[in-house]
Amino acid sequence: MSDCLFCKIVAGEIPCDQVHADDDFLAFRDINPQAPAHVLVIPRRHIAALTDLTDGDADLVGRLHVTGARVAAALGLEESGYRFVINCGRDGCQTVPHLHLHILGGRPLGWPPG
Ligand code: 5GP
Ligand code: ZN
Repeated sequence: MSDCLFCKIVAGEIPCDQVHADDDFLAFRDINPQAPAHVLVIPRRHIAALTDLTDGDADLVGRLHVTGARVAAALGLEESGYRFVINCGRDGCQTVPHLHLHILGGRPLGWPPG
C-alpha cells in the first residue's frame, strides 16, 4: 500500500528505531512511547486491521505473537512482565491502519484500560 505509513517504514522510505527484523516481521520503537519500553511489531505484508484477517492469516498472526514475545525478552521485560495490545477501529483507538502489536512494559500498567 503506497499511502500506508507502516508500509513506508517496511520499504525503508521512513526511518525507524528498529529492534528486530526478519522475513515476515519488523519491530521498532514507537515514536510516542506510552511506557519506558514501547515497541511495535508489524507484519511486512499490509493487513489493515484485525477485522481484515482471514483463516489464511492464522499462522502469520500466531507468529506475530511469538515474535513479540521474543522481542519482549530481548528488551529485558520477561521478569517484570509486559502487555500486548492490538487496537482495532474507532473505539479501539487504532490510528495507523496497518496491523501492529504494541509491546508495553518497563512500568506497572493500569487495568482496565481507560
Ligand atoms: P494505534 O493507535 O494505531 O494502535 O498505534 C499506532 C502507533 O504508531 C502509535 O502508538 C503512534 O505513536 C505510532 N506511530 C505513529 N507514527 C509513527 C512513526 O512514524 N514512527 C513510529 N515509530 N511510530 C509511529
Ligand atoms: Zn501498510
